[in-house]
Amino acid sequence: MSSKIKVTGLIQCQRCYHQIRMEIVAEYSKTNPQYESGVTWDESDNYELLLCPVCSSVALRSYYWRDYMEPENVKFHYLYPVEQEKPLGLPPEIQKAYDAAIKVKYIDVNAYAVLVGRVLEMICKDRNASGSTLNNKLKNLSAKGEIPNKLVKVSENIRHLRNIGAHASLGELTESEEPLLSSLLRAILEYVYSAPYLAQEAEEKLRILKDSNQ
Ligand SMILES: [Zn+2]
Repeated sequence: MSSKIKVTGLIQCQRCYHQIRMEIVAEYSKTNPQYESGVTWDESDNYELLLCPVCSSVALRSYYWRDYMEPENVKFHYLYPVEQEKPLGLPPEIQKAYDAAIKVKYIDVNAYAVLVGRVLEMICKDRNASGSTLNNKLKNLSAKGEIPNKLVKVSENIRHLRNIGAHASLGELTESEEPLLSSLLRAILEYVYSAPYLAQEAEEKLRILKDSNQ
């Protein structure tokens, strides 16, 4: 007995962000036979469970099909996981470094920690922090009011996890540290970039509203 493995076209995994062909591990079709003016055809809602070969996560997508439809007109809707919302307002360089970190997040948490540390270094550079070490730079950012003191403590945790990730002699991070690293990084990015970005956007909308009422 031979079993043929079915794969998708090139799609982006919403968890690890790799462009990849995923294996279709399960399928379900709900078919509705149709009849009109002596013609019969089938319409169906179809579901596919996909497996990412990179991060081993599953995804669920659906599509509508009817007989005589052209296969290239099939539109896929991704139901799970929903696209992760990226922090808003990041400068392009930091966005790039952030995306690079996300790509290794589910593959190697130690590499992820190192790249998260790199994002921190870039934030310090972008905000003109002075100091010789990352820790000093972060303290400098806090002194300048760029980040609250509470976030310096958060950053120290990232720095500590980054060091473990970078130096095998200090031990290894496990997958259980990933959510912590992710939320620490997110807290900093949202404070430094997303909050001012959203505030500016709100101000802009308010200004347009005021102008249109004059
Ligand atoms: Zn993946």
